[in-house]
Amino acid sequence: MFKGINAIEFSKRFKTNEDCYRYLMSIKWNKDFECSRCGCKESHKGRLFYYRRCKGCSYDESVTANTVFHGVKMPMLKAFHMLFRITSKKKGMSTIELGTEVGVQQKTAWLFKRKVQAAMKKDKDDKLDGNVEVDETLIGGYSTFKGRSTETKEALFVAVEVLPDGRTGNIALQHIESFKADELKYAIKGHVSADALIKTDAHRSYQKLAKELKNITISYSEKGTAMEALHKQIMQFKNWLRGTHHHCSSEYLFAYTSEYEYRFNRRNKRKNLFNDILVRMMHQIPHPYNYLKTLCVYNT
Ligand SMILES: [Zn+2]
Repeated sequence: MFKGINAIEFSKRFKTNEDCYRYLMSIKWNKDFECSRCGCKESHKGRLFYYRRCKGCSYDESVTANTVFHGVKMPMLKAFHMLFRITSKKKGMSTIELGTEVGVQQKTAWLFKRKVQAAMKKDKDDKLDGNVEVDETLIGGYSTFKGRSTETKEALFVAVEVLPDGRTGNIALQHIESFKADELKYAIKGHVSADALIKTDAHRSYQKLAKELKNITISYSEKGTAMEALHKQIMQFKNWLRGTHHHCSSEYLFAYTSEYEYRFNRRNKRKNLFNDILVRMMHQIPHPYNYLKTLCVYNT
């Protein structure tokens, strides 16, 4: 397992495409081979070193089959270099910088980065717990789509765990359609445990929700002074979006909220990110472009 954020160590470990394929093989077939077609557990050598041929049905399976790496067009060494940059830099990297540094077209870097961000998306049962502050904000000026004004503001749901000693625990961010009570309820249920104690501001949607969700407490104190940890997160997310990514279209805002959340919730485990994201990508189904589109938050 490769751990760390040291570029020299990374370059020593991964010199060729073969090194990268061998690493992927150690993730996929670490325990035992299992044929994805017939379930048979025995295999021969396949037609290339990173293939295994099933003894039962003769299916010759590549290490990248049924993983996010399926159909990735660039050499594996470049994909690994991109992943290392995405995971080792504290704030990540824009796709323009990634493309230039690794030597691929920006379009290729863009698509690969979207796949990585999709793999960063939080698991469904990974919810915030304990004392949780919840708020909503508008985020604006990022839309570059035809027919949508650049002034378009997008609604964002934000939740922050406040630990007993006052420090911030994990966070959750989600692009939502509006601040209507139903939208916020959906976001709360998706990101916050049903046992958590939730604190919100006095927005009328929460007043409506508090009648239904008994674990919501409304704070009537003035905005800005209350829920400090939460407002700090909102500001930091906006700064990160502007500073690192310059602009992002509202259509892909979900990808950026996933990335920010993933990074923040693992801020003390940066050395493990490279391996963690590789394991995630090896255990998820391929993400063709059209699939990435359906991940849009309105559908999650
Ligand atoms: Zn088989």
